Amino acid sequence: MKKALICGVSGQDGAYLAKLLLNEGYSVCGTSRDAQMSSFQNLVRLGIRDQVKLESAALTDFRSVLQVLKKNQPDEVYNLAGQSSVGLSFEQPVETLESISIGTLNLLEAIRFTGEPIKFYNAGSSECFGDIGTEAADETTPFRPRSPYAVAKSAAFWQVANYREAYGLFACSGILFNHESPLRPQRFVTQKIVAAVSRIAQGSQEKLYLGNVDIKRDWGWAPEYVEAMYKILQQEEPDDYVIATGESYTLEEFVVAAFDSVGLDWQDYVITDRSLFRPTDLAISRGNPAKAKEKLGWQAQYKMPDIVRMMVQAKQDSAQ
Ligand code: NDP
Repeated sequence: MKKALICGVSGQDGAYLAKLLLNEGYSVCGTSRDAQMSSFQNLVRLGIRDQVKLESAALTDFRSVLQVLKKNQPDEVYNLAGQSSVGLSFEQPVETLESISIGTLNLLEAIRFTGEPIKFYNAGSSECFGDIGTEAADETTPFRPRSPYAVAKSAAFWQVANYREAYGLFACSGILFNHESPLRPQRFVTQKIVAAVSRIAQGSQEKLYLGNVDIKRDWGWAPEYVEAMYKILQQEEPDDYVIATGESYTLEEFVVAAFDSVGLDWQDYVITDRSLFRPTDLAISRGNPAKAKEKLGWQAQYKMPDIVRMMVQAKQDSAQ
């Protein structure tokens, strides 16, 4: 039986990935900064809480990382842990940089230290590309990060590439564009919109306050994106891949689709709040997943309108 270690198993992607790996017959261990305190609600929601072995690990602490590797002896390690909000990274730049960059470096070093042929997946981000204009970003597009989060993810990306080249580690980055699901925390704007729409549809008198709704994003469906992570580690050679739908929509289009799905006019409820604008933001974000299609046989089935419909439906089901 293959063994996988998922760092950040309590998050959206960690939970879906754990489910996928269990279905593939893996024994799955997952880490949280404090496994005693975490409720692992996402694992509970997916009905797999009891099937995942849970460990505490602080990725910024080398001893902790080495210990969890030695104890569990995984064949594959998926690093999904770290401060994951672009908005929050402007408020907590040091925490963001340390949790993402030092965390990734400690994992790479610990894998190298053990000398075991452990395959390593790192959660890269489309935020690294920065403003790319109307071109779709692929694996050759240069990084121009525009937030502390993106700077940290860029550093981690190059650490992974360097350990692959310098020490021959089977280390890969998935450069994932935004992906959503009912497990997305409400701190993220898509879930904030879906939750507000759902409450308004049930009679709430509230308004929905949003920042810049002109930004364009390439939104995908998280359960599909974790399949790409898994496939990346099943290849003969380690490599980096852009994972995206290839289609981008404005946030306004997302909002319109969400209100439309419950038969309401968004303009009656949405208020622009300039305090929610970020110091720097990306105008357009769109990926070119051609390499993933060719090499991994992976392609996104769900696009923004499907994702809105599924998220609103899930929210309404959970409210009943
Ligand atoms: P989540 O925020 O849902 O999960 C990340 C996990 O990391 C949390 O469950 C938490 O686990 C841990 N974590 C949070 N903050 C910190 C911190 N300051 N220091 C250390 N650990 C922390 O993220 P997702 O599942 O959405 O994303 C998974 C990974 O993919 C992340 O690295 C994210 O940046 C990246 N990514 C996500 C995209 C998306 O659209 N979802 C797009 C591109 C990249 P605990 O509290 O249990 O320790």
